[in-house]
Amino acid sequence: MEKNVTILGSTGSIGTQALDVCQANGFNVYALAANRSEQLLEEQVRAFQPKRVCIADPAHYQSFCTRVRDLDVEVLTGIDGLCELAGDPNAGIVLNSVMGMIGLRPTLAAIEAGNTLALANKETLVTGGELVMKCAAEKEVRIFPVDSEHSAIFQCLEGYRHCHLNKILLTASGGPFFGMTRKELEEITPERALKHPNWSMGAKITIDSATLMNKGLEVIEAVHLFGVRPQQIEVVVHRESVIHSLVEFDDYSVIGQLGVPDMKIPIQYALTYPERTACPTGRLSLTDYGKLTFFKPDLETFVCLKAALEAISRGGLYPTLVNSANELLVELFLKGKVSFLQIGDLVSEVLGERCDGPVTLENILAAEKQAREFVLRKI
Ligand code: MN
Repeated sequence: MEKNVTILGSTGSIGTQALDVCQANGFNVYALAANRSEQLLEEQVRAFQPKRVCIADPAHYQSFCTRVRDLDVEVLTGIDGLCELAGDPNAGIVLNSVMGMIGLRPTLAAIEAGNTLALANKETLVTGGELVMKCAAEKEVRIFPVDSEHSAIFQCLEGYRHCHLNKILLTASGGPFFGMTRKELEEITPERALKHPNWSMGAKITIDSATLMNKGLEVIEAVHLFGVRPQQIEVVVHRESVIHSLVEFDDYSVIGQLGVPDMKIPIQYALTYPERTACPTGRLSLTDYGKLTFFKPDLETFVCLKAALEAISRGGLYPTLVNSANELLVELFLKGKVSFLQIGDLVSEVLGERCDGPVTLENILAAEKQAREFVLRKI
């Protein structure tokens, strides 16, 4: 397949797997961007020979330029560099897999330029969902979800566009602390929280999976991507992560998408759509699993999920508020500055803040600041 791909966040977990997918499918890697992982980015530039590259952290710009000075590649930096790559008319499909809400502006830049998006940066939709979906509709830009659950829902809905969707069953692994009580969660260290049972992912999302914040963010993401009300989404804990999500239609027929828990499948489908090609991953054997299990989520223990559901039912800037508080708290938890339970407690408490107004880029950034200040005041 002749296809240009631009990867923002190429040194992260999604980015490196996306490069494997590009290699397996013979895609042309047009541009790459990373925050500050100089050495890995340099290796990627040497291996894939993109035309343009961005090292987003300006403190790493000079030394990165020196590393690649023998190569014919243009080096950019900063958030402006990310937006420049996202909006490049030759970018091809823009895979946005940067971490955190810094990903919002590049998403908007890609849409503005009419570039197709493969979206792995969930904060883009969590914070700017209304704005992003409106711009995408205006510019007729397609957004292909990379998140495994949303890719599953997208795949379940294909061929049923004329049918009315009753509800979405969003599956959750339950994370490493499934079944534990609040008391048992008191002593959780970053090391323990970083061990996920099924998925291999970056540190931020692994912690979010342990608190179930990740599932809350995914509910918000799904509301925007699929145009449903929050009440139409049911979170189902499914420990094996084999069913990646399901949809229910008016006749109560339920359609699901299954596969081994490997991000390469949804990453590849976002890049090869509407085609399917052999994926560099394992095949699913249901008889190896024997049985699949399902549970209701424990909202009283995993209060992050409850807070995220409350935020999306209020709408507006409240999802930004909980997301931004969570981003900072996860960072502080990984540094040993707050406890595991404090993440959920403060993500819940931030909803006591008033944060009204329309969802504009300016207000989103103001809500982020408000949430961060709230957290810093409380710890
Ligand atoms: Mn997911």
